[in-house]
Amino acid sequence: MGRLFAVEIVYRGIFQKTLAKNISRAIVLAAHQEGKPGISFGRYGDSPERNGVPAKNFAIVATDNVTLEEGMAKYEPKEVDISIAVDDTLCKGVESWAWYGLQPINRLLKPGGTLIVTSREEPEALIEMTHRKEYPYQLAIVKGIPSFSGLWVYKEDHTDVRILGAMAKILPELFSLESVEKAILDEWHDALKATSAARSFERTTTITVHPTQGNPEEPYKFEFPKWWEMREGVAIPSIPRGGAFEDPETAKVGGFRPERNPTFKKFSTRTMRPVVEFDTCIKCTLCWLQCPDSCFDVTPDGLYDANMEACCGCGVCEAVCPVPNCVTMVNEVEFHDNASQWEMWKKDKEGYKKWLQEKIQHRPERSHGFRYRGQYEEQVPEMLEIAREG
Ligand code: SF4
Ligand code: SF4
Repeated sequence: MGRLFAVEIVYRGIFQKTLAKNISRAIVLAAHQEGKPGISFGRYGDSPERNGVPAKNFAIVATDNVTLEEGMAKYEPKEVDISIAVDDTLCKGVESWAWYGLQPINRLLKPGGTLIVTSREEPEALIEMTHRKEYPYQLAIVKGIPSFSGLWVYKEDHTDVRILGAMAKILPELFSLESVEKAILDEWHDALKATSAARSFERTTTITVHPTQGNPEEPYKFEFPKWWEMREGVAIPSIPRGGAFEDPETAKVGGFRPERNPTFKKFSTRTMRPVVEFDTCIKCTLCWLQCPDSCFDVTPDGLYDANMEACCGCGVCEAVCPVPNCVTMVNEVEFHDNASQWEMWKKDKEGYKKWLQEKIQHRPERSHGFRYRGQYEEQVPEMLEIAREG
């Protein structure tokens, strides 16, 4: 029996669709250069993709056809040699259309397998976000701003080939750098892309993450109903009406908290989150009305508190708020929980103001698709500079 290699690419639906496809396809093409057969495919349950909702592609490669056929008989790999997260906020865990609950980004990694993350963060920051694993694994960072594009456009910033270069260093049994370079030239006819892969190969290092490191939280999960617990026929219960909001400090009741979908929480869709300056809010209701996910709790004092379990980070509230700098979208890597901002503000207004100022320093470098014509052309040189200089 030959050897089977499995790689997963975890990406943000739509925004990173082409990136994930390019990587999984090029993995198979590079392996073909060495006579290894392979297949790449998207996870069936992730379709249709939604903006930002985590999704997966897989690449399966074998040393011979029979081993590949055996690997393909499984719907998807139970464990992988390499997990690739093309956005660092995915390290907080992923909730997709395809399953219930939150799954750690390193869930499928084999003992000693490698998690590759595209990020500008240091390893410590990524490890802090990532759930603990019961055995050691390796972490490699491909330095750079996580690459986002749209449904019809692709940001050609070399993230795809830099990941391939890193893979050749991490798992040389899968393919060599030479095979990666040949596959890039065959596929893209671009010598500069091959050079970016080689630079990434040279620079890639890994560190070992031990079972004592990482986020100790148990990701939320659900028990599936047994067949005898299911109701007859098909019934989709609607979400109940919601009710009054309670101030935990004063036990005062007022305002309104809508009920939310209890099984799909959405926060792992987010790459940035709104922070609210409650002192300048004029209670105009626009954020509450316009939020596409009914995220705002109306507090007993008539303010609007974005619920961080429900927010998908779309940025509409920032766009509609009429008060300058009252709502600001901030990079999600800056936060370690989903706590209520309003409760924090109520307890310590001065402390909250300081916290807010600190967070606002970290405006998003990421964007949801392109916002104006020519934006990608502006961003690409910066990424190519990182690919060149590191
Ligand atoms: S970013 Fe704002 S508008 Fe968008 S889901 Fe979150 S709270 Fe709602
Ligand atoms: S849109 Fe801005 S000013 Fe209006 S209620 Fe929301 S946070 Fe306050």
